[in-house]
Amino acid sequence: MSQTTGPTTAGAQGAPQLDAEQLLDDLRDVFGTGITKPLAWRIAQLTGLRRMLAEQEGALAEALTSDLGKHVTEAWITELGFTSNEITYMLSHLKSWIRPRRASIPLWLRPARAKVVREPLGVVLVISPWNYPVQLSLAPLAGALGAGNAVVLKLSELAPATSAALARLLPQYLDPAAVRVVEGGAAETTELLAQPWDHIFFTGNGAVGRVVLEAAARHLTPVTLELGGKSPAFVDVGADLETAARRIVWGKFTNAGQTCVAPDFVIATRPVLDALKPLLDKAIRDFYGEDPSQSDVYGRIVNERHFGRLTDLITTGHVFRGGAVDTETRYIEPTVLDGVDGDHLSMQEEIFGPILPLVEVRDVDEAVEFITARDKPLALYVFTGSAETKRRFIRDTSSGGLNFNAPLVHMGAPSLPFGGVGASGMGKYHGEESVALFSHAKAVIDVPAKPDLLAAIYPPFSSAQEKLVRRFIARPRP
Ligand code: NAD
Repeated sequence: MSQTTGPTTAGAQGAPQLDAEQLLDDLRDVFGTGITKPLAWRIAQLTGLRRMLAEQEGALAEALTSDLGKHVTEAWITELGFTSNEITYMLSHLKSWIRPRRASIPLWLRPARAKVVREPLGVVLVISPWNYPVQLSLAPLAGALGAGNAVVLKLSELAPATSAALARLLPQYLDPAAVRVVEGGAAETTELLAQPWDHIFFTGNGAVGRVVLEAAARHLTPVTLELGGKSPAFVDVGADLETAARRIVWGKFTNAGQTCVAPDFVIATRPVLDALKPLLDKAIRDFYGEDPSQSDVYGRIVNERHFGRLTDLITTGHVFRGGAVDTETRYIEPTVLDGVDGDHLSMQEEIFGPILPLVEVRDVDEAVEFITARDKPLALYVFTGSAETKRRFIRDTSSGGLNFNAPLVHMGAPSLPFGGVGASGMGKYHGEESVALFSHAKAVIDVPAKPDLLAAIYPPFSSAQEKLVRRFIARPRP
């Protein structure tokens, strides 16, 4: 099913059908009028978005509970409140972020004046996933609007209640001429991807990321890919294990592990793992009770395909705690696997569910080796009190983000760029990076007609001129 808030053409059965080419044409016309460029329009969209989050909190939280079993408080912390904070931060800085910046010029170009002007890219496509369907739709949307673009937002079919709620609500709070919402799955996304957008912002898995990149290449459309991967949590000798256990459990089992930056596995020496295991078990009991299937703060797996994929990872002989599943409700108990090495099934791909393998290494060197031998993670978590270990990980590993002693929280600081590196993605957003991402930094230089100092570099060339040129052109402006 597809639905846009703009004009649609009737399908064979009378259902609305997406006409992606028409949609882009319409938005190009709207963008061409210039209405999206003034600061006032951008502020109106951002405040509209924030107002929607406040006024429609109940409807959106209900949709999130229906799609993913999210508790309303968790929905507020990780989605509604999170996005609202991101917008507030953007609103308080937007004016200075989009102000043209003076640029210095070399001596030989004086008395020219130069500046960098951030201009909107045009009409951009944002494709969002199902796991945080409000945050991961609206945070990029805010960046695109803050930068003055017209936007098509493609929502995820795997979070149908949230998709329907956003498709209904967004046109009531945003300029419906410049912001359109499309519902649907791979077929609709494929049709959208055939169009020459000015930018595509995609959040999802790497396989679909490749499809997006290939489609974009046909039009030379720039792309941001927010992907996933296996984010390790290294626990050092001497770390505060009780706090580490509680934070790992929180980061892992929030949204039933369906978080792109969830700690995917724990890596530590055997004595650390053995000391950590009862603390992990205790934290799980403290957070979700003796029977997490009865807890109203513990989520469910999004669909049967993911449920089947995850239950296959719970192999006999490795379960330290948990392992219970219920097919009907797609419940998987918070599960910890021990005695897992790099060849185990759970270590082949991003887990994206409530299963936590524990991987044993000899020491910090082997941990760094294990991590750097694999795809660069979206996030890397290091639990340590040692300044030397911190320096080591900053220097010798590469990841989208590197957090000491707390998972996930880097996403909540809008002053920090958020994004992957290598297989975990390309491009970054949040805060000013979002506005930069959806803008073109245009170089503007104004060279006065008189005096015409450029005459020094016009041909034909004399030897005196050459001396002058070498002296002044080679000399950078201090
Ligand atoms: P997905 O890649 O399956 O879907 C994302 C979007 O792509 C959806 O809108 C979907 O309709 C569309 N899509 C799916 N298949 C398609 C196809 N064949 N052709 C064209 N479009 C298609 O991602 P997902 O399963 O919704 O999300 C899970 C993945 O996303 C995980 O790997 C996770 O780590 C990653 N993720 C990353 C971030 C991040 O911020 N870096 C955030 C959330 C999720």
